[in-house]
Amino acid sequence: MPFDAAQLAQDTEAFCQEIRPEEEVCYAERRPNPHVVPLAKKHNLLGMNIHPDYGGRGADNVSYFRALARIGREGTAVRTFFSGHLSIGAYPIQTWGSEAAKKKYLPAAAQGEKILAFGLTEPDAGSNPREMTTTYTKKGDRYILNGVKYLISNGGIADAVIVFGYPAERLHDPNKRMSAFILDTHQKGFEKESFAPEAKMGMPTSNTAMFEMHDCEVPEENLLATEGEGFRVAMGTLVSGRLSVAAGCLGVIEDCLAEAIAYAKLRRQHGKEIARHQLVQEHIAMIEMDRVASEALVVRAAEMKDRAEAKRGDPELARQADILAAQAKFFATNAAWDAADRAVQIFGGKGWSTLYRPARHLMDVRVCRIYEGTDEILKLKIASSVLGKEWEAFK
Ligand SMILES: Cc1cc2nc3c(=O)[nH]c(=O)nc-3n(C[C@H](O)[C@H](O)[C@H](O)COP(=O)(O)OP(=O)(O)OC[C@H]3O[C@@H](n4cnc5c(N)ncnc54)[C@H](O)[C@@H]3O)c2cc1C
Repeated sequence: MPFDAAQLAQDTEAFCQEIRPEEEVCYAERRPNPHVVPLAKKHNLLGMNIHPDYGGRGADNVSYFRALARIGREGTAVRTFFSGHLSIGAYPIQTWGSEAAKKKYLPAAAQGEKILAFGLTEPDAGSNPREMTTTYTKKGDRYILNGVKYLISNGGIADAVIVFGYPAERLHDPNKRMSAFILDTHQKGFEKESFAPEAKMGMPTSNTAMFEMHDCEVPEENLLATEGEGFRVAMGTLVSGRLSVAAGCLGVIEDCLAEAIAYAKLRRQHGKEIARHQLVQEHIAMIEMDRVASEALVVRAAEMKDRAEAKRGDPELARQADILAAQAKFFATNAAWDAADRAVQIFGGKGWSTLYRPARHLMDVRVCRIYEGTDEILKLKIASSVLGKEWEAFK
């Protein structure tokens, strides 16, 4: 069946309307939202961008990112689940997985039978994943992995995680390159620990975890791309992840705008609605500019990603998709932070309370300037794209 963009938008809307009251309660009680997966399954959103051959809907990037923007209005925590499961979970399997791996994981992911996550970061390797210490050795037809992954979205609820490690021989040979694998979490030697919601600055309703791998086994067919290609897989996946974060932030801005307008038209001070005060209108105008500029960048980046995927192997299209995703992510995450801050200001004292949406957006969206490439790393990337690669400030 051909992909139906209008149906996806309709199903996403229905999901968002059902998830909102559940998210409100879970947020107030500072606990993970158990309704995200069942409701996403009910509305057939767990395989939005997975190819129909593997049980998904086969959404193009523009439609998929519009859906993520709509979901982003319901909060960064809800959208982060989808990014972990699809943009950085299913995407690398679909792009670099063996046929056996695609058949094993993608239909199950689309059905919600397998939840996915992406584990690149380690306690001592964040902005520079090349400093990771996870290792693997090959034993017959299996890889044996040892190491620790840290701050992983969905890491405590995932059935399978995309993980990265170096061959153990790297200890003696620094030229050995990292590889990427799909790791089943339900096995001996896999130990996970989720962050307590109260230990997190925002997103108390989502799962963030660390996990240890002690001699965990990965079958040969779960290698992504070829051995030594792990860094390429990681960077390619981050293009998809960054766009998903940018799209989610567009949704945050849209919700902040809607909340700010509704409140400013209702609240009266100095004898009139605060929406009639010029300095309040300045905030509204700036949130609207955050919205239109972010939307333009997200759509431009998603269209370029569609073009690059239609002509896989074209290095110039891949380079442009990479840099446009970085620009969209950098801009939209900062714009969302600004929009949430302005919405808090318009709400006055109530804005400071997490009983209202602006404060929740403000705390939740802050992480978007950190994960999937910090502000600083993205600025350096954008600078080198115009200065020339030889000027790259980090190697
Ligand atoms: C809620 C949450 C969810 C996450 N989800 C995932 C996930 O699903 N999968 C995953 O793999 N990771 C995930 N992460 C990890 C995230 O990607 C990292 O935190 C991020 O990449 C930064 O790494 P770090 O925390 O080690 O900071 P560091 O790399 O130690 O950076 C600290 C500071 O130094 C700056 N810095 C570092 N190097 C340079 C440089 N060369 N030039 C200028 N400044 C520099 C950084 O920009 C930052 O400001 C998540 C993090 C959080 C908080």
